[in-house]
Amino acid sequence: MIPPRVRLQFRVRTADSCGVEWNRRWRRAGWLLAVPVLTGAAGAAGPLAADLLLAPGNAPAQPPLWPAAVPAVLVGLVAGLAVVWRAEARAAERLRRSEAHYRALASSSNDAALVVDGELRVTGVAPALEPPAGPGRPPLAGQLLVDVVHPDDADELVHWLHDAAAGAPTGLHGFRIPAAAGSWRVLEAGVSDLREDADVRGLVLHCRDVTDRADREHELRALAYTDSLTGLPNCAAQRAALRELLAAQRPDVTLLQLELHGIGEAREALGRAGADAALTEVARRLRATVRADDHVACTGPEQFTVLATGTGDEPDRLADRLLSIIETPIATGTAFVDLTAVVALVPLTGDLTEEQVIDRAELAVADARAAGEGSVRRYRAELGAVRDRRDQLRGDLAGALDRRELTVLWQPVVALEDHRVNGVEALLRWRHPVLGDVAPDEVLAVAERAGLVVALHRWVLREAIAASAQLSVHAPGINIAVNAAPAHVAAGTLVDDVAAALAEGRLPADRLVIELPEEAFELPRATDDVAALRLMGVRLALDDLGGSRPTLSRAGGLPVDIIKLDRSLLARVDRDRHARAVCEAVVGLGAALRVDVVAEGVETAGQLAVLRAMGCGYAQGFLLSRPIPLPVLVELLRSGEGTLWPGAVGGTPAGRTPVLDGAQVR
Ligand code: C2E
Ligand code: CA
Ligand code: CA
Repeated sequence: MIPPRVRLQFRVRTADSCGVEWNRRWRRAGWLLAVPVLTGAAGAAGPLAADLLLAPGNAPAQPPLWPAAVPAVLVGLVAGLAVVWRAEARAAERLRRSEAHYRALASSSNDAALVVDGELRVTGVAPALEPPAGPGRPPLAGQLLVDVVHPDDADELVHWLHDAAAGAPTGLHGFRIPAAAGSWRVLEAGVSDLREDADVRGLVLHCRDVTDRADREHELRALAYTDSLTGLPNCAAQRAALRELLAAQRPDVTLLQLELHGIGEAREALGRAGADAALTEVARRLRATVRADDHVACTGPEQFTVLATGTGDEPDRLADRLLSIIETPIATGTAFVDLTAVVALVPLTGDLTEEQVIDRAELAVADARAAGEGSVRRYRAELGAVRDRRDQLRGDLAGALDRRELTVLWQPVVALEDHRVNGVEALLRWRHPVLGDVAPDEVLAVAERAGLVVALHRWVLREAIAASAQLSVHAPGINIAVNAAPAHVAAGTLVDDVAAALAEGRLPADRLVIELPEEAFELPRATDDVAALRLMGVRLALDDLGGSRPTLSRAGGLPVDIIKLDRSLLARVDRDRHARAVCEAVVGLGAALRVDVVAEGVETAGQLAVLRAMGCGYAQGFLLSRPIPLPVLVELLRSGEGTLWPGAVGGTPAGRTPVLDGAQVR
């Protein structure tokens, strides 16, 4: 198939060549017409001369001889015309051939033709394509094309020409031929199969010199594949390298993904220039640490990736080395920057796709992140399973409400003074049809990613407030506690949602407790929201005090009505002096600030005794009751007349005495 551009140029050149040929043809015809004329003239010359010599007065009268010349003239003319016709036919044939040849080798300043025979040997070449003569550089003509072109291009070029010879549609194809010493000229060619043409007998490559364009493209490509700050290959380049390694089946290669931590702080402290200097230095150190043929790339704002060859624990040792060079302080001129990182390892084993490798790296990075700064984690199949579960939950959560898979369980909060049920905490449950019960922590994490936290909370709020009417029958004035996630505060609708739910359920605001973890109080709009809720009469609880966050010092300053001691503190309260001291301090703080203190996670009579002794007002935990369904709670309140003693619900935890301060358990 000849590309249209080339075809058009053929047409133009054929028209030019026709003009030249027609001039030649007329000249030749003039000469050839002279032949019969001269032949006829020669035939007629004898009789005519005789007639003249024997004219009257010169000789006795005789009949004229010239009519005898007529047949000779006619014969001469016919013979001459035959000669002209033949010559013309030959000329036409020559013209056809020369046109074909011309077509084959048509050339201009940009385009030039190259003819190869069936063995792909160059049989014709436009002068413009010949490389400048030089030592060891024979002319192209006569050489095999594969020996002439750039070695990297030979295979593809041969395939392309085979396709063309087989009649398959072929587009333009690029390849390189030698130019001046040491350099290459980039050609882009279309091909036409003129092997049937007796004068060409070959494949004609209509070439166009695109060296300048290729140079520009090369520069652009180089730019597009380079991280402008560090000068390292960028994400696109690394993906290309990864693709190549996967195609080459290289199980000895491991992808190391490094997530840098501390750049944000460096930017805050030193400005952008300082942070950039630190990143550039990290890039330099990484490059200097890996082997020359390992690929290092800057694949994200604070992410580097290495594709390293190595077996056994070599990649792990490399990861440790990389961590240590990252953690070595970086002098930026004005200050030192301390960075740290986590590293994920993904061996390129098995039939992995590029996407799977990237996916695995992200999972392993998340795993390393969860393990803490300076962690190295290899990808494990379980990580994929965790992610698959999360994805399924995420997909199913939206419809879970409609399918009535979500429910609320209730856990009583008991006043230690008289064991009255002072309140209940609403705890979310999801019974997934395939995966079974899903813990609320997991549900909330999924809801947050799916943007469903607010919808979920509105539903729990409505359920809780609707249940309060039933509960109040047996426990008048019972408090209803509902957890709120920081994401709900951040969404900015918490106050409106609470107000709407209270209005709908006709619950006095002071019977509702909103439990917030400490991080929710740190959000920008928390102060306003908390103030608005308290103005409405809603009570606020600080949840999980003494848990994972060392927040005790701030607890006294937060605008809350209730403090809930985290169950991790309670677990040690009867054995650990430190935990006991913290609980005592919080109980004392509560008394001073007139804030109720609820001890959460009470599992043993011993813990309860200690809490009672230190004057803690309220307790919640498995010792008293696990979270239970609403009808069970209603029955419990009815039968106990609003009180709850250990052992009343589902027996007591195994091996523990259902005795409290010597009092008989009811
Ligand atoms: P939380 O607010 O601290 O809720 C108390 C958790 O402690 C509940 O776990 C409860 O079952 C558990 N617990 C109570 N007593 C004991 C005990 O004696 N021993 C032990 N080992 N555990 C005890 P659950 O129901 O799994 O809830 C876990 C967390 O999920 C809750 O912690 C809360 O942060 C969150 N959550 C539950 N429901 C909701 C909700 O509707 N909204 C929000 N935002 N979070 C919720
Ligand atoms: Ca809670
Ligand atoms: Ca809690």
